[in-house]
Amino acid sequence: MKVLVAVKRVVDYNVKVRVKADGSDVDVANVKMSMNPFDEIAVEEAVRLKEAGKATEIVAVSMGVKQCEETLRTALAMGADRAIHVETDAELQPLAVAKLLKQVAVKEAPQLVILGKQAIDDDANQTGQMTAALLGWAQGTFASKVELGDGSVNVTREVDGGLETVKLSLPAVLTTDLRLNEPRYVKLPNIMAAKKKPLDKTSPADLGVDVTPRLKTLKVAEPAKRSAGVKVANAAELVAKLKNEAKVL
Ligand code: AMP
Repeated sequence: MKVLVAVKRVVDYNVKVRVKADGSDVDVANVKMSMNPFDEIAVEEAVRLKEAGKATEIVAVSMGVKQCEETLRTALAMGADRAIHVETDAELQPLAVAKLLKQVAVKEAPQLVILGKQAIDDDANQTGQMTAALLGWAQGTFASKVELGDGSVNVTREVDGGLETVKLSLPAVLTTDLRLNEPRYVKLPNIMAAKKKPLDKTSPADLGVDVTPRLKTLKVAEPAKRSAGVKVANAAELVAKLKNEAKVL
């Protein structure tokens, strides 16, 4: 069984992002970039399926600029067998990514496509759902447990106030939640071995997809700065301030 995993190159989660001076976007110049954390969980899940003898091949795919190759090499070092880079300098919005992923899925014919539930840069939480809809396949989003059966997959989903388990017929699209697994630490020999694994290139034009953006970002702003607090001498003063100044009592 083949598994296709989508991995996005994003600003590293440890970086405190800055907004560009003109408020047009986030500044990514000279900023550390890494694989989207939810996509690491997606790769890890695919690798565990392979280790359990349930998956036979893992194909990692990334769309975007040349440096996405680094993200794909990380996926290969984690255990993916080969990689596909849909190379473009164009801005890619979730619908465009979903259309590209659909074309890759049609060519590769995997039984499972695994994505992160959201990319930590755009926080869109759309690509998995759109990909499933475009393919006409079942979708299991926010997966915290994945159990592969014969021709189907049971997905436990984190929903408000509890867990929901759904059974999907294959092929299906899954998106990963934080508690699905803990991605492995990549060891140096695996990083070296990953350099020799196949990484194929394609482009939106090759796949016949128009990636023109449908949305325009009007403004990006930092959260309002919090003003400094004051120290109160005792509980009575606190109560008086809450009553008379904050007027919350
Ligand atoms: P989003 O809908 O943008 O929050 O992204 C959800 C998931 O879609 C990510 O966790 C990735 O698995 C996948 N994805 C989004 N953009 C890309 C991209 N450019 N290349 C590969 N995968 C992507």
